[in-house]
Amino acid sequence: MKTQAKIKINWLDEVKAVEPDVIEMRRYLHQHPELSFAEYKTADYIYKQLCSFGVEDIQRNVGNGLGIVARIHGAKPGPVIALRADFDALPIHEETDLPFKSQNEGVMHACGHDAHTAMLLGVAQIMNQHKNNFAGSVVCIFQNAEETKPGGAKSMIEDGALEDVDVIYGIHVVPEHEVGNVGYSMSYGSAASDTIEINVQGRGGHASRPHEAIDSVVIASEIITNLQSIVSRFVDPIDPAVLTFSSVAAGGGTAPNIIADQAKIKGTVRTFSEETRQTIKRKFKQMTQAIVEMNDGSVEVNYYDGYPALLNNRELVKNIVDRIQSAQLFNEVLEIGPMNGAAMIGEDFAYYLQKVPGAFLNIGVKNPGESETYPLHHPKFNLAEEALSKGMELYLFLLMQHLNEVTE
Ligand code: MN
Repeated sequence: MKTQAKIKINWLDEVKAVEPDVIEMRRYLHQHPELSFAEYKTADYIYKQLCSFGVEDIQRNVGNGLGIVARIHGAKPGPVIALRADFDALPIHEETDLPFKSQNEGVMHACGHDAHTAMLLGVAQIMNQHKNNFAGSVVCIFQNAEETKPGGAKSMIEDGALEDVDVIYGIHVVPEHEVGNVGYSMSYGSAASDTIEINVQGRGGHASRPHEAIDSVVIASEIITNLQSIVSRFVDPIDPAVLTFSSVAAGGGTAPNIIADQAKIKGTVRTFSEETRQTIKRKFKQMTQAIVEMNDGSVEVNYYDGYPALLNNRELVKNIVDRIQSAQLFNEVLEIGPMNGAAMIGEDFAYYLQKVPGAFLNIGVKNPGESETYPLHHPKFNLAEEALSKGMELYLFLLMQHLNEVTE
């Protein structure tokens, strides 16, 4: 990273100038939410806005089909910095009283992706107006389907969205923090969150004649108890991991005199390091198979990979945070641990950070003085529109740390 911000764009004024448009774009997006993998109109809208700003290098249908990558090339070659916004909504029935509330019944922008997209559109407009003033490129990645696995990020990367990219940043809104605050994590921003499913097949029978049956309840109990030792005995104690069995179903929960032939167990695995994740996956299958075999049953074992852990680049974050603090653009710069960064639980931005260094940052969107706020994914979730400017300021600040000035 260069030691000084080099471009002289009066970007606070620029943000002010585009703010009304950005608010309007966010309201439009909010009013017309679309579910993951079906964001056709949203993708169209983003594309049209980018065209109206005069952005020339726009790639459509990236990744799984709906992603958009807009590359804004400066006057000369230089660092290539990517910014990412997601644009899908959630299957939630909106319960706000906003004049621009969702017109798409049962679908709502309840995770702030409308704000993410509007802010990045504003930044694209500003940087495109100033493309003669900087060396390097700004890559605006508009990604669909963040909320639903397998997500959009992975396919966009496979389709070249990160080509030549040196550094990537993403921003997520956080309703628990006030407008003007920035949150960061030095290392992990979220854990990998995988799902496990075990279907034990035994043989039913009369409860009084266990020797003629294969008791799926006993097998399930042994699995649940014994697999606890995976975390306690096979994982480095200073590397956090969670294995939770959250659901058990067998025997219909009624008859006391019948041995259940089947038992279904569900649970979740949370890890940070990939090595630990793989260890748990391996031991989970191995131990389950062994226990079932020992009891003469059979089993179907499923391990569903969720998004990987989101790992920020420590050096980069440290550097950026120091500069944000000394620039005094934001009220508070808060360190958020991976376990309480509620907004970051399960984020496919993690895939980008597996490929290039970067950081995922938070901005507060709570109205100062407002006592009641609703969390992300809540039907009454809303954000203070003043936050849109702060988000653009943060994006532009980040760009200024990397891009070089061009003088005639
Ligand atoms: Mn989100």
